[in-house]
Amino acid sequence: MGKGANMFLTDDDKYQALKHRNPKAEGSFVYCVLSTGIVCRPTCSSRLALRKNIKYYQNVEEAIHDSFRPCKRCKPDVPTEWNPQNNFVIKSCNMIYEYASSKTSLDIDEIIKELKISKWYFYRTFKIYTHMTPRMFYKQCLKGTYQVANVPMIQTKRDAIKKKEIVQSICQETKEYLHDLSTDKILQCI
Ligand SMILES: [Zn+2]
Repeated sequence: MGKGANMFLTDDDKYQALKHRNPKAEGSFVYCVLSTGIVCRPTCSSRLALRKNIKYYQNVEEAIHDSFRPCKRCKPDVPTEWNPQNNFVIKSCNMIYEYASSKTSLDIDEIIKELKISKWYFYRTFKIYTHMTPRMFYKQCLKGTYQVANVPMIQTKRDAIKKKEIVQSICQETKEYLHDLSTDKILQCI
C-alpha cells in the first residue's frame, strides 16, 4: 500500500473519496454495499449506494472473506496497474529468498498466513508477476541463480504481448493450481 493509505482514515474521508471517485483511494480501501452484497473499488463507476448501506474494508480479500462478491464492473479482485499486489509479491519473494538463504525448507502456508491471503490467490498472483511458481523461485534462490531485485514485475497494462505470453505459460505450467481457470478468465485478471 502506498502513501494514500493514510489519507482515508475516517468513514467521512472514505465516503468523500467515493463521491468523487478519487483515484488516490485505490489500494487504500474497498467498499461493500450491504443491500447487494457486492464489493467495489473506491472508483467504481456504478451509482453510489446510500451511505447507510456501505461498509468499508481495507482490502478485497477481507470483504470476500465476509461473503461479499466482487463487482463485475470495477473488478476489485483483479490486479490493475497501480497494483497493490506488487507489494505482496515482493514481500513473498523476500520471504522465499530468506528461506533459501537460511537453507530452511519452504513453508508456503507460513507465507500466506503472514500475507493474509488465500493460497489460490497467492499462487495465481505470484505466477503472474514472476513467471514462476513459488517453489521454482525457491529453487532458483537455493542455487543462487536468482536475486530478488531481478524479479520481473508487470507495471502497466500496456505490455499486452508480454502478458499474453505469461497467461499462456500460466495455463501450461500451473494446471495443478488452476484447474478451473480458463485462459479468458486469466486474461481478465491482468
Ligand atoms: Zn464496482
